[in-house]
Amino acid sequence: MQVTNRKRVMVTGGAGFLGSHLCERLLNDGCEVLCVDNFYSGTKDNVAHLMAHPHFELMRHDVIFPLYVEVDEIYNLACPASPVHYQRDPIQTTKTSVHGAENMLGLANRLKAKILQASTSEVYGDPEVHPQHEGYWGRVNPIGIRSCYDEGKRCAETLFFDYHRQHQVEIKVVRIFNTYGPRMHPNDGRVVSNFIVQALRGEDITIYGDGAQTRSFCYVDDLIEGFVRMMATGTEVTGPINIGNPDEFTIKQLAEAVLAIVGGNSKLVLKPLPQDDPKQRKPDIMLAQEVLSWQPSIKLNQGLIKTVDYFRTFLAL
Ligand code: NAD
Ligand code: UDP
Ligand code: UDP
Repeated sequence: MQVTNRKRVMVTGGAGFLGSHLCERLLNDGCEVLCVDNFYSGTKDNVAHLMAHPHFELMRHDVIFPLYVEVDEIYNLACPASPVHYQRDPIQTTKTSVHGAENMLGLANRLKAKILQASTSEVYGDPEVHPQHEGYWGRVNPIGIRSCYDEGKRCAETLFFDYHRQHQVEIKVVRIFNTYGPRMHPNDGRVVSNFIVQALRGEDITIYGDGAQTRSFCYVDDLIEGFVRMMATGTEVTGPINIGNPDEFTIKQLAEAVLAIVGGNSKLVLKPLPQDDPKQRKPDIMLAQEVLSWQPSIKLNQGLIKTVDYFRTFLAL
């Protein structure tokens, strides 16, 4: 029996970069938060500041295995997100996406709970359609080194829609585009954290390829607002809905923006482009604007300044 009126919300992958910000936001909104994580790419440090909160609970658990708990809403974020992390154990990555989705959907079905899936722009692969809208089916290599992540996330989306059609589970699928901010892992190889850490240490800035490939970077607070709005929608809204910042930059422009903020003497050096690296990426966010009345408000430069501040302190510790 539930003895509290607080909404009980579970966040899988809650000790990761995005998950820790989401837990914090949900606690501020008055929810009871169950953070579930196996610490594959996240850390207890990311949620250390929440541990004393009376409505926060941290559980070590791998979502590949069944989980029996009682909650009202589920945010399924468990999955390593950076190529360095998801390629370290690619079989575990596919299992996390697929078995993890199956177990969390089984749980949502038993509880009649709403469930949000953190999907990804990677479902569009190396896209021929630009910007990417939700109706585009994508161009994904099924057997490459990114496939464990891309195909795992695609299969998870399939499971979400089949649980919705077959068992009427109330699903919410968001496709996240590159997001950055404080608590990104300093060694996970993602471009924003790499460039900032390199610049702060006075090391060379490593541009893969010629730096002409593009990405569109969303600041974490904007993204979390999109998540919460998506969860609050009625049953008719299932997604998929793109959440990201449509301001598009080349990787070279990003390097220059980071250097302008950090200063120092780092040089830009060119390194080989990884296999299947998408050439361009930019979300079409018309659906999010219409359905969620959501759009990002934080410009790249503003967000980079906050992220640089975080890493400056983090690296000094
Ligand atoms: P992250 O690696 O910081 O967080 C993922 C968390 O999931 C980590 O704490 C990790 O320990 C946990 N985890 C991994 N496997 C697990 C398992 N089997 N059981 C339980 N926990 C497990 O990455 P993030 O950037 O915070 O990404 C969160 C989610 O958002 C991921 O699902 C990712 O695919 C998605 N996403 C992120 C981005 C981005 O730009 N950050 C873009 C697209 C999609
Ligand atoms: N599951 C879970 N927690 C629950 C309910 C189900 O982890 O509260 C798991 C269950 O172990 C199963 C998966 O979710 O592996 C899918 O459950 P479902 O009921 O859809 O399928 P079935 O149990 O019939 O395989
Ligand atoms: N990248 C880069 N230097 C780095 C890390 C990444 O030039 O030190 C490039 C990478 O090749 C890709 C882009 O930056 O074109 C974004 O990479 P990230 O791994 O952050 O995200 P994703 O490729 O998954 O969008």
